[in-house]
Amino acid sequence: MLGKLCKLLRICGIDAAYSNQGMAILLEARKQNRIVLTRNTRLQKKKEVFFMKTSDPVEQLEHIISEFKLKNRIAPFSRCIECNCKLKAVDKTLIRNSIPYFTYKHFDEFALCPNCRRVFWKGSHYKRMLKDIRHLLRRT
Ligand SMILES: [Zn+2]
Repeated sequence: MLGKLCKLLRICGIDAAYSNQGMAILLEARKQNRIVLTRNTRLQKKKEVFFMKTSDPVEQLEHIISEFKLKNRIAPFSRCIECNCKLKAVDKTLIRNSIPYFTYKHFDEFALCPNCRRVFWKGSHYKRMLKDIRHLLRRT
């Protein structure tokens, strides 16, 4: 239910795991020392659960950043959006074959996910995201 929020958190560089499980998620969260963010009303009253009232992902993100005081922990471009792994800076000559030629020519800073091998760079999409995050931070 909170897939979009999960991606937004990762874009901000905040460690966010995702699961579709119901009650079983509580055990897993306890083991991994995580807080469960949910819209599932059946989990609402549990101790390690933070219930999201709004369905809007951006509002959810704002809420979490202020509630858990994460503003200073935000580090865009540091975590894989797909699998939550920490990104590693990579020399562009090493990933030349994994990216479009235009991108190779116009960008110098690249990061690689050691898990899914996805390559990230600070293109227009990144700049737009950064603008959104800054906008959000002014409001929280
Ligand atoms: Zn990845």
